[in-house]
Amino acid sequence: MQEQLNHVKHPLIQHKLTLMRDKDTPSAVFRQLLREIAHLLTYEVLRDLPTTTKQIETPLEKMDAPILAGKKLVLVSILRAGNGLLEGMLDLVPSARVGFIGLYRDHETLKPVQYYLKLPEAMGDRHCVVVDPMLATGNSVIAAIDQLKENGAKNIRFVCLLAAPEGIKALTKAHPDVTIVTGAIDSHLNENGYIVPGLGDAGDRMFGTK
Ligand code: URA
Repeated sequence: MQEQLNHVKHPLIQHKLTLMRDKDTPSAVFRQLLREIAHLLTYEVLRDLPTTTKQIETPLEKMDAPILAGKKLVLVSILRAGNGLLEGMLDLVPSARVGFIGLYRDHETLKPVQYYLKLPEAMGDRHCVVVDPMLATGNSVIAAIDQLKENGAKNIRFVCLLAAPEGIKALTKAHPDVTIVTGAIDSHLNENGYIVPGLGDAGDRMFGTK
């Protein structure tokens, strides 16, 4: 589990996350902070992307300069809160392909049910980064990654802002090959599946819904 989990303890992330947790922070500020933290998490989650070289000419001489190798990576947002992290990641990797997975929780079975899926082609040839700010029970991200693997994805990472120990345990057990990058790990889940102390419902905080 140690290697699979990257808890990024950067003071800027901690500071911005504290502002996000505050219940009086308005939606517009919340979204902006999430976007800024996404930049910092993107730096971490993509630090081992393979590179190749390309010959270019600087004003002084020719050089073999590093560029990203292989097919364009794919960012997969779990709707709807994933879109907040996605925006910030696209600031740094604007040419990434983007996929979306929509899931809701069935009230009777409490299991995630997929209502939307759109992925780029050749998933098996791409590095795939799944994004959702909150890793709570882990049920949604586990279902999302099941779906990605059914579509051929092999190299998968997951980025979240905030994780509960219960979600980390469930995800590492279900998908031991998936690296998790998180900005914080909180205490526990409450009886309604909310992360404590957390920040509330990330989607509602982002979009001002209830
Ligand atoms: N999803 C959220 O948005 N918040 C939580 O605390 C748990 C899941």
